[in-house]
Order: sequence, then C-alpha cells, then structure tokens
Amino acid sequence: MKYPRVVVDREKIRYNTLNMVEKAKREGAELVGVTKGTCAHRDVVEAMALGGIKIFADSRLENLALIQDMELPGDVELYLLRLPMVSQAKEVVERVDVSFNSQEATLEALNHEALRKGKKHQVMLMVDVGDLREGVRPSNFLSLADKTLSLKGLNLKGIATNVGCYGGVLPSIQQLETLLSLASTLEDMCGFSVEIISGGNTATTILFSQGLPQGINQLRIGEGILVGFDSTNHRVMEGFHQDAFILQAEIIEIEEKPSYPIGEIGRDAFGEIPTFQDRGIRKRAILAIGRQDVEFGSITPTMEGVEILGGSSDHLLLDISACQETLRVGDALSFILGYSGLLRVMTSGYVHK
Ligand SMILES: *Cc1c(COP(=O)(O)O)cnc(C)c1O
Repeated sequence: MKYPRVVVDREKIRYNTLNMVEKAKREGAELVGVTKGTCAHRDVVEAMALGGIKIFADSRLENLALIQDMELPGDVELYLLRLPMVSQAKEVVERVDVSFNSQEATLEALNHEALRKGKKHQVMLMVDVGDLREGVRPSNFLSLADKTLSLKGLNLKGIATNVGCYGGVLPSIQQLETLLSLASTLEDMCGFSVEIISGGNTATTILFSQGLPQGINQLRIGEGILVGFDSTNHRVMEGFHQDAFILQAEIIEIEEKPSYPIGEIGRDAFGEIPTFQDRGIRKRAILAIGRQDVEFGSITPTMEGVEILGGSSDHLLLDISACQETLRVGDALSFILGYSGLLRVMTSGYVHK
C-alpha cells in the first residue's frame, strides 16, 4: 500500500449527487456538477454522471479537457466557470460549450475565434450581486448584454451570479430577484428570453427551505456533492455523506516530547511566529505528509484522541497522548477532508489517488 493516499468512495458521491439533483429539481433547477475540487478526477466525474449530472463545470480548461476525453453515458455539456483568459480564447471555443463572461474584450476574442471556426460559442453573463468576485454590477449588465448580442459568433445563453466565495456574502432571495429582474429587462430589450438563469453554488441551497424564486433554473454545485458541507453558511448538509473522500497518511515517528519548544523562538518554515501552550511532556506522532499536500485546517482525524498540532512542508505533527489505541510507526491514520483540504490533496502529485 502506498501512502499518503486519498480513498474515493464512488458510491457515496453518486448518492450525494442524486440526492442534490432531486432536491434541485423540486426547486425547478437543473444541477451542474462542479469538478474543480478534485481536478476532475475520473472516478468522481463518473460517479457524478451516474448520479444524473449532464452538465460538468470546472474553472480550469485542463480539467474540462480531461472530462472531454472520458467516455460518459449520453451527451454531456462542458462549462468553463472561471472567466476565460483572452490568451486561451481559441482553446475555449474549441473545447467548451459554454463560458462565463463579464468582459467585453474577452467576448470579442471569443467571438473572433468562433467566427473563424464557423461556429457559435455560448456565453453566460456573470452579474456581481455583492460578493465582489467576478461579474458586472447590475447597473452595467444591459450594456454588456447589448454588446454580446451584437457579436455574431456568440450566443447569449443565460445569466448567472455567484456569492459566498470571496466576500463570504450569504445568498438571499433578494439577490436572485435582482438576477430575475435583469433577465426580464433583457427579454424586453431583445425580444427573446434567455434560456438559463443560474442562481449560484452550494451556499444557495440554503434557500431551498424558503423556496427558490420561480425562474431560477440552474445551480452549480461542487462542495455539497463532494463533501456534504456548505462552508459559506458553515453547515453540515443533512442527508449527505461527509466522508466520500478519506485521506490516509503513514506514521514515521512516535516520541515523547515537551509541548513547548526548547530555545529561543524565531519564525517557522513559512515565516510565521508560532505560539505554543506548555502542556508538559506529550506523546507525539509525525506523519509523512505536509503543507505541500494538504491544508491542516481542513482535515479532521477519524480516530478519537488524535489532535493536529501543525507541521511543515513535508511533516504533519500530531498529539496522540489521549489516543486509546496503540499506534506504531508504519501505521496509517485517516482524516476526513474539507473542501479546501480536498482540493489540495487532489492537486498534490505526491498523494496517491
Ligand atoms: C466553484 C464555483 C461554483 C461551485 O461552488 P461550490 O461551492 O463548490 O458549490 C459555482 N460557480 C462558480 C462560478 C464557481 O467558481
């Protein structure tokens, strides 16, 4: 067995997907499966497809290219979530069905490439309702839409918004109403209705209890499906598995040591000033995994009495004094992964999948 590794439970991902697909359907929304948290790992993509996903979205073109090469049942659509780089316009037009946009310069580049290829590229326009990441402010939306409609290589497929990612702004019915009212103004302006009104990410599912406003017909979900958690609202999602991914790493040292370092304290390997509590002599274990592979704040030991102390690029230090089990060098310990922990381990070339 090779460590460190992530064990992926495909059945739990399929179950979480199906559960979310059905909940969204009851709200009138189709679900887009967001794969960026796992670098579009094949097992994950296949499990999502089995759970009913027909549209896959990722922020990286490289990940979408992986999905494009997989043989999935039925036709799937690929969405590029992050605003395209102008320098990748050609590849975007070639490889993805739909991209999210807010910039005229980028739309022009996409249009140029689409016309050259003799095809129509589909775009969603991103509106910022307050989280202050990507998207135009609502007051600038109509001029962006007007510009898009004037570009013959593009097809205006829909409008979208996203909250909770940068500003930590909580989703609200009012934001969705803003999106809907922009869509209806657009309809008056251009004489046809846009196909998709994409209301948000995992955080937005908290509004299911109040009912999504009529007209919101799409949600883009990664975290809720993958780890059954909603970071923005800091909520464990009832009825979803939280342990579809388990990280395992091997113990390379067990020693009794003081809990307070000996000598004058400067800065740690990452330039931060560490703080310690003196708890006397403690039993400690070192695991062969580090900050290069995982975010320590986003993993939870499955074994009782195991406490994360910290670590460095290649070492994870644990206090195992309270642990009932007898642990030995060579044993592996398991951890449940949060969303950012998952992203890091899936990205690390040193973690076996
Ligand atoms: C990451 C992302 C999502 C999915 O977010 P989750 O919190 O994983 O559900 C949706 N939309 C956009 C634009 C994103 O960048």
